[in-house]
Amino acid sequence: MRFAVFDGDRLGVVQSEDGREVVIDISDLAPADPGPAGPLHRLIEAGVDTAAIKKRLDARPRLALADVTLCTPMPRPGKIVAAPVNYRDHQVEMAQENTVIELGVFLKAPSSVIGPGGTIYLPYADMRTDQEGEFALVIGKTARNVSVEEALDYVFGYTCALDITVRSSEDRSTRKSFDGFTPLGPWVVTPDEVGDPRDVSLKCWVNNELRQDANTRDLFFSAAEVIAYASAVMTLWPGDVVSTGTPAGVGPLSDGARVAVELGGIGRLEVNVSASRAVPYAERPVAGGKAHVPLVTA
Ligand code: MN
Repeated sequence: MRFAVFDGDRLGVVQSEDGREVVIDISDLAPADPGPAGPLHRLIEAGVDTAAIKKRLDARPRLALADVTLCTPMPRPGKIVAAPVNYRDHQVEMAQENTVIELGVFLKAPSSVIGPGGTIYLPYADMRTDQEGEFALVIGKTARNVSVEEALDYVFGYTCALDITVRSSEDRSTRKSFDGFTPLGPWVVTPDEVGDPRDVSLKCWVNNELRQDANTRDLFFSAAEVIAYASAVMTLWPGDVVSTGTPAGVGPLSDGARVAVELGGIGRLEVNVSASRAVPYAERPVAGGKAHVPLVTA
C-alpha cells in the first residue's frame, strides 16, 4: 500500500483503479489529533496493522489524486539517519578516501523535511549546494541492536528522499540540515509492494536533465545493513527515517531549478529551488564575522 498525507493532516491510501490514481481517505483509522508529527507517524507509532486497513478500503469514497494536495508523509521524524559515501561511483566523483564503512552514519535535523512541491532555499549565494537523490525508509517498530538478517522486519515502508548538501567546510550535520534540505515523499510504500530493497532503480533529474541513474544493488551498506549498523549505535524509533546515500551525479542547484527523484516501484518526488534567501558565505550569521583561528601561531 501507498500511504500518503494530503490536504494538511489527512491520511490516505493511494491506489491505481481502472487506470486512474485515487486517494482513499483513512484519516479516521489514525489516532485522533495527529499533531506536528502527522497522521502517518501516529499510525505507525500505534502499531498499525496494514492488512486490516486494506480490508477496510472497498466501501470508502475515492478522491482523484489530482484533486488533493500531497504533503510530506513524515513531517517530523524523530530523527533522520543518513549514510555518507555509500556508492562506489559517488566515492570516486567526490575523491573520498573513506566510505560509509569508515565514516558510519550521520544525522540530519528533522526540521529540514519538506514535501512534494516544496521549496529548497539555497542558503549561500556563492557556495555550491547539490542535490543527492536517495532511497529512504521509515522505521516501523523500535529497533536496537538488530542483525542484518532481521533488519528489514523493522521497516514500515520506503520513500524517495533528497539529501540536499552545501559543499562548504562546515560539519555534515550543518551542511545538510538547513530548512528544506530533506524532501521526503510523495508517499510511503509498504515493503510487499517494493520487493527486494537491494534492487531498486534510482533516477534524479534537475531541470529535466538526468543527473543520477543507479540501482540500490550498488550500495556498500544495503538498507538492511544501514539499519543494523545504526541500531547498534542508537535506538531507532517508529517513524524515524533512514536514508541510504547517493550515487554519482550530484551537482549544483540554482535559483528556479526543479528537482525530481524517482525510485522504481515507489514513486516520484518533485521540489523547487529558490535563491531568494541566499546570502554571501562570508556574511553568514555569526561565523561570517569571525576570523579563522589557526592552530599554530607565529
Ligand atoms: Mn547523502
